[in-house]
Amino acid sequence: MTAKMLRFVTLGRSMPEKRGAEARREDFDEIYADFAPAQAADQASRCSQCGVPFCQVHCPVHNNIPDWLKLAAEGRLEEAYEVSSSTNNFPEICGRICPQDRLCEGNCVIEQAGHGTVTIGAIEKFITDTAWEKGWVKPVKARQQRRQTVGIVGAGPAGLAAAEELRRQGYQVTIYDRYDRAGGLLIYGIPNFKLEKEVVQRRAALLVAEGVTFKLNFEVGRDASLEGLRRRHDAILIACGVYKARDIQAPGVGLGHIVPALDYLTASNRTSLGDHVPAFAEGMLDARGKNVVVIGGGDTAMDCVRTAVRQGALSVKCLYRRDRANMPGSQREVAHAEEEGVEFVWLAQPEAFVGGEPNRVAAVRAQRIHLGIADATGRQQPRPIEGSHFQIPADLAIKALGFDPEDLPKAMGAPDLEVTRWGSVKLDWKRMATNLDGVFAAGDVVRGASLVVWAIRDGRDAAAAIQRYLVAKEGGRSATAAE
Ligand code: FAD
Ligand code: SF4
Ligand code: SF4
Repeated sequence: MTAKMLRFVTLGRSMPEKRGAEARREDFDEIYADFAPAQAADQASRCSQCGVPFCQVHCPVHNNIPDWLKLAAEGRLEEAYEVSSSTNNFPEICGRICPQDRLCEGNCVIEQAGHGTVTIGAIEKFITDTAWEKGWVKPVKARQQRRQTVGIVGAGPAGLAAAEELRRQGYQVTIYDRYDRAGGLLIYGIPNFKLEKEVVQRRAALLVAEGVTFKLNFEVGRDASLEGLRRRHDAILIACGVYKARDIQAPGVGLGHIVPALDYLTASNRTSLGDHVPAFAEGMLDARGKNVVVIGGGDTAMDCVRTAVRQGALSVKCLYRRDRANMPGSQREVAHAEEEGVEFVWLAQPEAFVGGEPNRVAAVRAQRIHLGIADATGRQQPRPIEGSHFQIPADLAIKALGFDPEDLPKAMGAPDLEVTRWGSVKLDWKRMATNLDGVFAAGDVVRGASLVVWAIRDGRDAAAAIQRYLVAKEGGRSATAAE
């Protein structure tokens, strides 16, 4: 069956049904239902099959979007899945959590022409969720086994994507992670209402079935140094993300119940996964019955405010020093948060934290901000307005100001590893290589806090670079286990 494409002229954009805000506030389930097959096919048929598809250009993994949209429009979903999974290890994850408005969909030509974008992300999710349901997603076994081994530090999306690519080429791959579950921020950072945890766990199980070895609760720098791993493996990939939370310098910041965003989100995710988290049980990381103030304007802040709503907070406010148009977080997430009852206090920053009993935060004292002229970076600079103080009651204050890399040479016992002045791993991007022979890097640890889809792209690029390195190491031929 050949589908008629270019239907954007007669057919409007529609998304899968979104649950009402009242229902969403009551649980941590994802907020969108699935597309019905006919609706997915219709929406895919809106694509105008551009000769130069800007959606694909602006997708970090360069998905062949027009091809799989056409296949989806024709109901050829198994083929659509094959095409979509050939460029992306986790399409159903990207379909759920990529900021499509800034990537593929924001650059779709029919969006630019005022017809409303093709709903690329939702269709990508639909194709891959269908593939899982129908049993089309199967472990891929390597055609030949190779003797060479690769050690990967970090089981986040960068490490997992690289592991899958290398294992499919027959290398013996071991992933080391300091957490007790694989997934990195996919499992302990991003909340369930954006990405249900079974979606991540079934991917990790697939990697096990493909022959990847996981060594969890294994911290490089504590259980082995990077040098020790280099002696164990023919190549190493560092994909350990960035975890040093940026802090606030303000009087009273040391009071109780002022917590870093990732501690708060990890506790919530662990609790949803059935773990006992003492700081949650004791109330420090639980928003129930509290007035909550989240400080920051990025996606992490959006995840915190929406988690607090679901935990049953009395009130949830987000304090951000710039305005809505200048915030780094996705506008789509802000809209979801507002629907769920979050109040945004734009153009305001904390000046001090006011203590109550017993040595806990009781309020955030803030001041209003005026956005000055743009500096060399092109961003308007926030300037406090004199005498504009005001106070917001807060029984829980969450700091969501972003992340920097840890002191990696020290943390990993690798004093010779070169890092940039921001602390990220210094990389030769063409070879995805660090300054240490046989040591590669990918994901947030190289880019700074970024996106899942960029981590996947880096993981794939690093796997290709590692393969080139290992083949060269063997004198131009690749050693197989049978030799
Ligand atoms: P990570 O996912 O951080 O994984 C690194 C892994 O390395 C972790 O499992 C860690 O335990 C392990 N590790 C670290 N040090 C060691 C060590 N010494 N030894 C062993 N293991 C170690 N991106 C999006 O695209 N969409 C979103 O909606 C989105 N929401 C986000 C929400 C939050 C709250 C946060 C914090 C980030 C969000 N991101 C989002 C960003 C995204 O999660 C990251 O860009 C992505 O996970 C980076 O992948 P990674 O593999 O480089 O690192
Ligand atoms: Fe869009 Fe992300 Fe999918 Fe690429 S991976 S097509 S950017 S949703
Ligand atoms: Fe289709 Fe939009 Fe991509 Fe063009 S830019 S190929 S219309 S999805």
